[in-house]
Amino acid sequence: MNKELFKYYDNNILTLKANVKSVIKDNDIFGVILDKTPFRPSSGGQPYDKGWLVSNGRRIEIIKATSDDKGNILHWVKEIPDSKEVELIVDKDRRARFTKLHSAEHIFFGSLKKVNETADVYKINLDETPQIFIKADSLNYEDIFKAEVLTRDVIKKGLKRIIHYRSRDNLNDLISRGLRIKENRIKDDFVRVVEFDGYDLSACSGTHVENTREIGDFLVTDFKHEKDYYVVSFVVGEEAERRRQELSEEARLLRKLVGKDNLVKEVKEMMDNKARFKQKYHHYLLEYLKTLKADRFSYFIFNNEESKVLMRGVKGLCSNNTVLFINKKDGLNEVILCSKNVDCGGIIKELIKENGKGGGSKDFAVCSTELEPDKIVEFVKQKVLKQE
Ligand SMILES: [Zn+2]
Repeated sequence: MNKELFKYYDNNILTLKANVKSVIKDNDIFGVILDKTPFRPSSGGQPYDKGWLVSNGRRIEIIKATSDDKGNILHWVKEIPDSKEVELIVDKDRRARFTKLHSAEHIFFGSLKKVNETADVYKINLDETPQIFIKADSLNYEDIFKAEVLTRDVIKKGLKRIIHYRSRDNLNDLISRGLRIKENRIKDDFVRVVEFDGYDLSACSGTHVENTREIGDFLVTDFKHEKDYYVVSFVVGEEAERRRQELSEEARLLRKLVGKDNLVKEVKEMMDNKARFKQKYHHYLLEYLKTLKADRFSYFIFNNEESKVLMRGVKGLCSNNTVLFINKKDGLNEVILCSKNVDCGGIIKELIKENGKGGGSKDFAVCSTELEPDKIVEFVKQKVLKQE
């Protein structure tokens, strides 16, 4: 990125008079290149600026800013400006949101690194749902909570932003102070280091608050393990305050409902118990299915039972018979047909010709359909009698 551009970012310059240098066309939109600009293209996980361009008193919306391989910044508009001189206006709310999120991300990650030194940022995404993707040997919610508390302390302390411009071979003192840098990602002949007064130093091309107090508040809203990284979702400012209130209300209501202080332990136990009861119930259901007696053609109707238990059970029943199970589930009827004497797959296929989906082999087939149980029984019975 052109060093000139950072002058605007560092000084929070959001409006600027500039001259149009050239315009390119891409389908039905136009990319305007100017002699200078405060607009930022997407970079380092921070999304592009949006805003306006004023030409001859006409305000034209800039829908995105991108950069080309020559380092030009393209301002994408739907109408071509009709004057050489224009005024550029960056959407300050959008920029401020990303600036706060980006700064919070630095401080949070700097904090996490103090809690778990194996943690390393893999990428960030500050669009719709702000997220940090982290690689680490292992990371748990306790680490995240500790880093969250540290982050909020730093925000409250009001640390100042300091920006260093350095050549690549003059970084040793910053490295010894804990500089986070991915050297392979730096494309310029200089390095821009963003420091929050001694707490965190990171090589970055984004925009950042001048004082950490501007971030207001910080809250991790979700933490999960995905593929080979961890994903932390977070919010800042008023959104963080609001979300914390909601979550705290929910926790207090839950505590009241469960009637215990150690909510997490209690809910874990409840879930373990539920899993155990379910397992036991499935065992007894299977035992019950073994006691059923089947004739040449028999059918049984169930109410919202576990499909895989019924499928296991039906196989034990249909050694020389044709057995039909119908399981009422979520407004649909699940049909299981098992037989060595008729073509189950063929019958099921015909049954769901107009209504439902499913299939199977000659001796075992399943489907789900909106057809009523008595219709299903009648249909299958006719087919079975015909085929035998
Ligand atoms: Zn940054």
